[in-house]
Amino acid sequence: MTPLIPSSYERHLGKAVDNQVRAIFSGKICEKAQGLAAIKTLTERLGKNRDFPLDVDVAVIESKVPNAIALPGGRIYLFSALLDKAESTDEIAGVLAHEMGHVAHRDGLRKMIQAGGTSYLLGLLFGDVTGGGAIVFVSRYLIDSAYSREAEAAADDFAAYRMSALGRPAHPMGLLLKRIEGKDDVKGGNDFNVPAFLSTHPVTDQRLKALEKQVPSQQGEPLLSQEEWRALKEICKTT
Ligand SMILES: [Zn+2]
Repeated sequence: MTPLIPSSYERHLGKAVDNQVRAIFSGKICEKAQGLAAIKTLTERLGKNRDFPLDVDVAVIESKVPNAIALPGGRIYLFSALLDKAESTDEIAGVLAHEMGHVAHRDGLRKMIQAGGTSYLLGLLFGDVTGGGAIVFVSRYLIDSAYSREAEAAADDFAAYRMSALGRPAHPMGLLLKRIEGKDDVKGGNDFNVPAFLSTHPVTDQRLKALEKQVPSQQGEPLLSQEEWRALKEICKTT
């Protein structure tokens, strides 16, 4: 089903869902200028690829839950708690590239179809389904439920490929996930019971091993300077 849906419709759907996701989190979008610049740099480095350039729109949302999600149409949210836990650019770049993999493979759209069925989706496309409740259902489903193991492996492969192409290792993403493992029961007051990244992205040994195997043949420049990295970490700080 998904390949038949034009990208323009997918973006349209993504917008509707995005509004709902923001409402669910009642979340503040972090917009400190230097941080935004750092995100742009990182996104462009990962997205620019001769074979398959990928256009995504990345934002940081303030949340106590360490998570990251990709919506249909190319919107990716990094949750601020994930940035707090990260110790290097490669850790965040890996997660970002993983989410880009979900966008590239249209996994979010597939999930929406799974949640709502095709007639529901057509309704969304043509504007018949305007009830907030219906969209909230899909938004929550997008956030709460896991992708298939195959989709996860494919997103990891995508991340490893993009990181390697830039001469960067893929496994630091696994280190970040390991670090927050066991602490994924954090429930932020505003976040209802939104699960952490790990509950939808379990770090299996198999997954870590696969990431560790992807070592770039040539080491590339760091994806962000120290200064840019600090700016990204502090994107939610208002003062
Ligand atoms: Zn994933």
